Amino acid sequence: MSRPAVRFAPSPTGYLHIGNARTALLNWLFAKARGGRFVLRIDDTDRERSREEYADAIVTDLAWLGIPPDEIVRQSQRFELYRGAAERLKASGRLYPCYETPEELERRRKRRLARGLPPVYDRAALELTDEDRQRYEAQGRKPHWRFLLGDQPVGWPDLCRGEQSFPPGSLSDPVLLREDGTWLYTLPSVVDDIEMGISHVVRGEDHVANTAVQIEIFRALGAEPPVFAHHNLLVAAAGGGLSKREGALSLRALREAGYEPMAVASLAVLVGSAAQVEPVASLEELAERLDLSRLSRAPSSFDPAELDGLNARLLHDMPYEIAAPRLDAMGVGGGPAFWAAVRPNLVYFQDVVEWWRIVNGPVTPAADPADATFLETAVGQLPAEPWDEATWPAWTGQLKEATGRKGAALFRPLRLALTGREQGPELKRLLPLIGRKEAVRRLTAGATGKAG
Ligand code: GLU
Repeated sequence: MSRPAVRFAPSPTGYLHIGNARTALLNWLFAKARGGRFVLRIDDTDRERSREEYADAIVTDLAWLGIPPDEIVRQSQRFELYRGAAERLKASGRLYPCYETPEELERRRKRRLARGLPPVYDRAALELTDEDRQRYEAQGRKPHWRFLLGDQPVGWPDLCRGEQSFPPGSLSDPVLLREDGTWLYTLPSVVDDIEMGISHVVRGEDHVANTAVQIEIFRALGAEPPVFAHHNLLVAAAGGGLSKREGALSLRALREAGYEPMAVASLAVLVGSAAQVEPVASLEELAERLDLSRLSRAPSSFDPAELDGLNARLLHDMPYEIAAPRLDAMGVGGGPAFWAAVRPNLVYFQDVVEWWRIVNGPVTPAADPADATFLETAVGQLPAEPWDEATWPAWTGQLKEATGRKGAALFRPLRLALTGREQGPELKRLLPLIGRKEAVRRLTAGATGKAG
């Protein structure tokens, strides 16, 4: 295959959600694994609903996912091209004017259904004479324009779904241009795909019927249609599809909640794929696991709560070199030893801030008054520095012998006094980071009841 060119074509009418991320990522992964080009096409022909703020957010969100486009194209700047294509279709008799009102169409649709016929457009407008049209125009009616579908079946080998075929007569001639001169998405998309040299269209299966129509439009415009791949859709486990306005699953909200882009990408791509859903550290690795032909055919249900587990596992395996610049930027020190100590306890990266405070203070030690004597003994037995990971087992081993305490009775008071918490990273790793002087202070505060 020569280098593919793909496009991700959202309309800027809301924030991207995890389902859109699936489409964007599948395009990017497919193209990049083959040295190809990834274009962002902003489908903003609907001027009423499109907003600049959403277009900007799409660009930001793709960058956050790690898949910035090689090129950005905006449909609102290309009306001239669409008009030109429409004129060509009119000239070849494939685009014809219709004057029905929505109410008329609805009445006819119902009549066809009642007679057991498919509710497709009956092409009555093709029978209109010039006089009929003049009469309508004189009444102030403006035409909308339909594309005349052919009388042959339309099919294509879909990279996700296998062979597809639509029999003639199963679809209505699609409206390409509305009465008010605004475009539906159908024609501009084809014109752009041709003009941008798009080789593969990877999009959701909600577009399968559009593809049957668009393949005919490609041909009517003298172009070879691209290869199509229609992936299954994502549905949140709680039920219902994902809509852009469902705020919580927007990429923006997920980012603000502290999820790693690779946790989101791993879930968005691997759910309903042949590979297991697990956190994958890089897009390159994700590309290796992706096989479009083995995506599930049914909608893939996912539980947003799964993201927590994926995020945590991603952080648990994150090497220090990757974490270091982020720790620096957050003013968190401690180097590799700190990272190794806290990484198994992270769910979100920003949790490091709290653990850094627990290492550095201020910490209010907690203690049970009944443990005061034990904590005094513990201070007395603290080994001299230098400390390392062997310090904790040596110290607590000694304490066990001296006091006869073991298990929770031994460890819990120490943890409470040293960190002020019931749970946390392994103390053998934290203790050398806290250091002797501060450990003495915290244990003493615990012993003397100055604990919080
Ligand atoms: N704007 C369309 C959508 O968001 C694009 C579909 C396509 O990829 O062609 O559904």
